Amino acid sequence: MTGLALPPEATGLITIDLDALQDNWRTLAKLVAPSECAGVVKADAYGLGASEIIPALNLAGCRTFFIATPEEGRAARQLAPDARLFALDGLLGGSASLLRAANVTPVLSSLPEIEEWVAEASQAGRPAPAALQIDSGLNRLGLSEADIKALVARPDLLAALDIRLIMSHLACADDPADPHNDAQRAEFDRRRALLPPAPASLAASDGLMLGKPFHYDLVRPGYALYGGQAFGGGATPVNPVVTLQARVLQVRTLSAGDSVGYSATWQASRPTRLAVVAAGYADGLARALSAASGEPGGSVLVAGQLAPIVGRVSMDLITIDITDVAGNVTRGDLVTLIGPGLSIETLGRAAGTIGYEVLTRLGPRFVRSYTGGGA
Ligand SMILES: *Cc1c(COP(=O)(O)O)cnc(C)c1O
Repeated sequence: MTGLALPPEATGLITIDLDALQDNWRTLAKLVAPSECAGVVKADAYGLGASEIIPALNLAGCRTFFIATPEEGRAARQLAPDARLFALDGLLGGSASLLRAANVTPVLSSLPEIEEWVAEASQAGRPAPAALQIDSGLNRLGLSEADIKALVARPDLLAALDIRLIMSHLACADDPADPHNDAQRAEFDRRRALLPPAPASLAASDGLMLGKPFHYDLVRPGYALYGGQAFGGGATPVNPVVTLQARVLQVRTLSAGDSVGYSATWQASRPTRLAVVAAGYADGLARALSAASGEPGGSVLVAGQLAPIVGRVSMDLITIDITDVAGNVTRGDLVTLIGPGLSIETLGRAAGTIGYEVLTRLGPRFVRSYTGGGA
């Protein structure tokens, strides 16, 4: 839906500011120029809705997108007919024909995968377009040094490949002082020098903040486009994109000694006003945001003031202590879980996780509403 109205049947609202998204992409593109700035839109654009995010980024000037799975690639192709699409998970179990049909370039990470792709894509009668992932120390996906040497020893295979990108991924880019960053960059340079020359890419959101030597030909931010601030080296030049609000279903008054929620983990130490809000762990609010008496948990903004979650987070509901909130809070009001003054990172920390996980877990019961996003 477009606009800000909450449908009467909705529990809550995720508002996605597509203008801010586009500004973030332009800001990063300017920062890394003349390197290219791609957009990472895997996992339904980090849970925000690829069907809106991809066209908005495309309109802002983004021409290269990374998705994870073949199915995400097929969907992205409908949304961006002329864009370059790379599938980070590669072929999965036999999806080569699907990838070829959708004109999605797989990121290949092993020799058997390269062989499988060449067998499929060479049916077109020309070298198979591919990205190669080489491991530089993360030990997740990627060709090892032995794999690279084995590939180089197969001129038939190399000749059948049209290598569009050689990429690797950093383990510790959120910490600019971490020696892994330079070590991985050196390893990336050494290993890709064994291969035929091709455009290179190493940095995601945090890596691109490490400076020019990490930009290569293309950078691959995802989280930063959505306003995420995971970089530990200071604030980055992106702005928030996401607001999350949920409905107050009931306000109740407790006496000192009353307990709240499952297992009665929180007891009121004074007469207490409690707001019951329609968002729970089924909506992606981690149960770790719960607060027993005397323990910290998550917080939400009620009428612009921070108020603590008390008691257990349940499947559909949270309970908020609003005793100290100035002003009237009534049934139907919206409280803010992510928004000005309450970042995705804050919510993630309170839940014992990271903002990435918060975003990608926000559930389907929240209505997603989009503003802006034009050319
Ligand atoms: C998810 C991912 C990205 C984007 O990472 P962000 O931290 O969200 O910018 C880039 N490259 C690879 C290989 C990824 O898996």
